[in-house]
Amino acid sequence: MMFNTETLWKYSFKTTQNKTEWWDNGVLPLWITAQRQGRKTASFHYPGGGAKYQGEAVQRSLVESYTHPNGNETEWRQNIDIVMNWFTKEDFDFVTLYYGEPDNVGHLYGPDTEKRRAMIQQIDRTIGYLLEAIGRHSLTEHLNVIITSDHGMTTMKKKPNITEILLSNYISFKDLVQFDIVDYGGFGMLLPKPGQEEAVYQALKNAHPHLNVYKKEEFPERFHFAKHERVLPIVMYADSGYSISGRIILYFNKGDHGFDNVYMDMKTIFRAFGPDFKKNHLAEPFDSIHIYPLMCKLLGVTPEPHNGSLAVTQEMLVDTYDQQTGAEMKRASALQNTAIGLTVVTGVLVVLFVASVTFTVFCRKKMQRADQNSTSEPVRMTGL
Ligand SMILES: [Zn+2]
Repeated sequence: MMFNTETLWKYSFKTTQNKTEWWDNGVLPLWITAQRQGRKTASFHYPGGGAKYQGEAVQRSLVESYTHPNGNETEWRQNIDIVMNWFTKEDFDFVTLYYGEPDNVGHLYGPDTEKRRAMIQQIDRTIGYLLEAIGRHSLTEHLNVIITSDHGMTTMKKKPNITEILLSNYISFKDLVQFDIVDYGGFGMLLPKPGQEEAVYQALKNAHPHLNVYKKEEFPERFHFAKHERVLPIVMYADSGYSISGRIILYFNKGDHGFDNVYMDMKTIFRAFGPDFKKNHLAEPFDSIHIYPLMCKLLGVTPEPHNGSLAVTQEMLVDTYDQQTGAEMKRASALQNTAIGLTVVTGVLVVLFVASVTFTVFCRKKMQRADQNSTSEPVRMTGL
């Protein structure tokens, strides 16, 4: 949900896809950074790929229409073939490919359902097709692939099993609230009317045993969330499975995300393979912010300022992955001599499936071990 408290506009993310003013917020996406350093990049249905950043568009971008179906397996395969051709016939260096499943089915039916399991099987077949396509296009030795997502999914709790959170039981929206982001699941924000912030906070802070309400400046630091100017003065999140409704209960999702990222259900997946990745390597859990410097490393580009650390993710790369200048020098020479093409340049394909569930059991086992050893932080990221 994109919003602007000055205009009181709210837009779902898909309706903002080609509207630069909603995306160009000063952060430079990797496509643009890589392009500026001589790489050829493309976005296939990837969120944000349709906007311009500092006046610059992604070299090639296919944008999902608002009504684009999420789950058409035949189209998924066609998309893979198109991307393979971009690498083989047009020398792209970096392509991001996005699928809106199993997020869609997870919301509609819930994560622990037959429909969701069937969608996970469809994704599994698609990854099989991707591997086959990479081989068919002779890209096995030239393409690094990262498969990840941006959040997990949990089953929502409903009445009569629980008492649902309805804010109008505790505050008058008409009298106290100027603008709100509620009714979207387990997270919410309020802009109180002038002078009403304390009244709203006091009325809500102990209102429901599964609702956590904060003034913006007191929101827990571990979320790395509340400092942005567009974050509203009252920030709240519900315990796992509870939705936050505003005036009336409009919410109907059976599954959702956006809860505290300490919950195992909110974790996501990360898989990577290709010539620069170790084989059968099991990484410790990590925060998704560390993928960015890894991608920059693989592309041989200098990152923008960021909060990730390459030290966390580069253990996945083969030991010979340079003493790294080697690969970058090879890449630089390839760029100077485009005729060398794919025989030297290693492309990077990022496939993003939104939300995961299939690897939960695996992750849980690993997480417990990590917890006992008090080692690294789990993968965590709140979603779109
Ligand atoms: Zn979602």
